[in-house]
Amino acid sequence: MTNTAERLDRFMARANAAYYANHDPFADFTTSPEISQIFGELIGAWAAVCWDMLGRPTPVLFAEAGPGRGTLMADATRVLARVAPAFTEAMTVHFIETSPRLRAEQAIRVPMAAWHDALEGLPSGPVILIANEFLDALPVRQFRLVAGRWVERFVQDGAFVERPAFPPENAEDDRSEIEINEAADAFCADLAARIVTDGGLALILDYGRDGNAGNSLQALRDGAPTDPLAEPGSADLTAHVDFAAIARAARGQGAEVQGPVMQGVFLQRLGLFERAERLARGRSETEAATVMGAARRLAEPRGMGSLFVALAIAAPGTPPLPGFAA
Ligand code: SAH
Repeated sequence: MTNTAERLDRFMARANAAYYANHDPFADFTTSPEISQIFGELIGAWAAVCWDMLGRPTPVLFAEAGPGRGTLMADATRVLARVAPAFTEAMTVHFIETSPRLRAEQAIRVPMAAWHDALEGLPSGPVILIANEFLDALPVRQFRLVAGRWVERFVQDGAFVERPAFPPENAEDDRSEIEINEAADAFCADLAARIVTDGGLALILDYGRDGNAGNSLQALRDGAPTDPLAEPGSADLTAHVDFAAIARAARGQGAEVQGPVMQGVFLQRLGLFERAERLARGRSETEAATVMGAARRLAEPRGMGSLFVALAIAAPGTPPLPGFAA
C-alpha cells in the first residue's frame, strides 16, 4: 500500500506489469485463440491474402503485440507453412512482449520469433501486425465531471481519490465520465506512422465500442470479477478499447482505417463455420460438437461475437481488406 495518491494509469501499469510477470493469466480468463485453433488459422490466412494485396513485399515482418501463450501465432504459422509457402518464406516473426514469463511460454510454441519490449524495437520495413486483447490491458486515466468541474481519479490506500483536473481532451463527448487510454492511442499512432512510411497493415481485435466507455475498468481474478484496487498485481486489469479514439490516432498520422466490424461478422466473412465443419468432419460426435461449439462461441451475437470488434489500420489507398468488405 502507498500513502501518496497515484494516478490511475500509473497504478494500472504497475499492477498489470506485476500481474503478467507472476501469473498465468489464462487461469483467470480465456481469449479467442485459446478457445479455438480456427481463430489463429483464419488470421494467418487473412495475413497471407493481405500480403498478396500489398504486392508481396519481401522481406515482411509478421508481428504480434501481446501474444500471450503464443497460441494465435503458432496456429497461424502452422497453417501458413502449408497453404502459403511464399509468405512463410518472406516473413520474419516478431513479438512485442514485456513479460519474461510469457516470453518463455511463447518460445515453446513459436521458437523462431524475435522478441521486443515495445513497437519501437521492431526492425523497419513492411509489417503485418496483429494485436488481440492487447490494447485492453494498457493503462487508462479516468475523469469525472462533478458539479461542473472535472476531477481525475487517483488511487490511495486501495481506494479511489479524486483530484481537480483540466478538462480531458475529448470532453466534448458530452459525458460526465471519460476514460482515456493514452498508451493505446500512442501505440496506434506510432503503428499508423510506420505503416504510412514503411508499408504494411495492422489488425486490432479487442473488446470495446466505437466511442468512449466512460468507466469500464474491470478486474478478473480466478475467472471472477474482483476489486481492481485491492492487492495490485493479483488480478488482470482491463478496460474497454475506445475504437473511435484509436481510429482518430491512426488517421492523425495519415493512415486509413477499415472497420470496426463485429468479431462475429469478421470471422464469418473469413469462413469460420466452413473451416469448423471441415475440422469436425470424420471426428467422433463429441469431438465434432466441441469444434462447432467453440466456433459458435467466437461468433455468438450476444457474446464474444459482438463484444469484440475488429479494426484494420492501412496505408492510404489500400483496397477493402478481407473481412471488412461486405
Ligand atoms: N493476445 C493474447 C494474450 C492477451 S493478454 C491472447 O489473445 O491470448 C495481454 C498480453 O499483452 C500478454 O501477453 C501481456 O504480457 C502483454 N502485455 C500487456 N501489457 C503490455 C505492454 N505494456 N507491453 C507489451 N506487452 C504487454
